[in-house]
Amino acid sequence: MKIKQGDKVKVVAGKDRIRDHEGRVVKVIPETGRVIVERANVAKKHQRQQRQNEQGGIIDKDMPIHHSNVMIVCSKCGPTRVGYERDASGAKRRVCRKCGGDLD
Ligand SMILES: [Zn+2]
Repeated sequence: MKIKQGDKVKVVAGKDRIRDHEGRVVKVIPETGRVIVERANVAKKHQRQQRQNEQGGIIDKDMPIHHSNVMIVCSKCGPTRVGYERDASGAKRRVCRKCGGDLD
């Protein structure tokens, strides 16, 4: 997957209430191809108090969204597509398709 934890991304598809949302990727789930973006796709969960010191009631939970619904945000040109380049040592690194800037 081109998205990694800690990336700044923009949600480009999905429900209206999360479209255009920007945030950091807090978790990548390779098995499902989904990512969790901070404050995107927040679901209100009604949770019963289960333990004495646990908080019951309504809690916010960030729900995973498919990685194809987000675009990585380049610090220079905004939402962009990811390209790959090899550096002198042959290691792959991610670059912005628009300006060629480093994304890692
Ligand atoms: Zn760029």
